[in-house]
Amino acid sequence: MTDGSQRDQLEFFRDLGVHDVFLERRRAGVAAAPATVTPGSMPDLPSLEKFLENCPRCKLSKSRTNIVFGQGNPHAELMFVGEAPGRDEDEQGLAFVGRAGQLLTKIIEAIGRKREDVFIANVLKCRPPNNRNPEPDEVAACRPFLVEQIRLIAPKVIVTLGTFAAQALLETDESVGRLRGRWRTAHGVRVMPTFHPAFLLRSPERKKDVWEDMKLVRDSLAGK
Ligand code: URA
Repeated sequence: MTDGSQRDQLEFFRDLGVHDVFLERRRAGVAAAPATVTPGSMPDLPSLEKFLENCPRCKLSKSRTNIVFGQGNPHAELMFVGEAPGRDEDEQGLAFVGRAGQLLTKIIEAIGRKREDVFIANVLKCRPPNNRNPEPDEVAACRPFLVEQIRLIAPKVIVTLGTFAAQALLETDESVGRLRGRWRTAHGVRVMPTFHPAFLLRSPERKKDVWEDMKLVRDSLAGK
């Protein structure tokens, strides 16, 4: 709007007897921040995914290729939560499809389940540039979406993969080395923290720890 037409409009309001005009402040090109999801507001996962479409709620929206919502059985008993998409995930829009994802498939199969039986998601739905660590404002913007996913899926057990996912979900600063192998609870669901498959690719000697953790998960799901 030009200054001239603004003046015309204000004069028009004055002539109508309007003396107080409240203007909404907007910076050029910056969309108003959309509301985040409120707990319990989404009827199902597709609605939540739609709500996230073109998400501009944090700075990762500038560098991502695709939002990685997560995938799998929407009524899974078992849910895995990783850190954030990597390059392969960002390109394909799917969680855990790179080398770490292939190892995750083996971990799932080791307890007699298939990848399609479980739900796989991340704390962050967008890739941090060069796979840097997620930043607190990014976690704060994205966490409500993970919490709503957990509510809608209502799994019996969540396995967190790596330090970051365990810390974000359990709201603790303990390392995964200390947290793993012991049951915790988050959002009313049993949580088993274990090592991240990308860490296992670098430190295969720790696979036996993950196997111990996954046996606890298998037994818990079997009601033992
Ligand atoms: N690492 C993660 O934490 N998540 C993915 O989806 C891929 C790699």
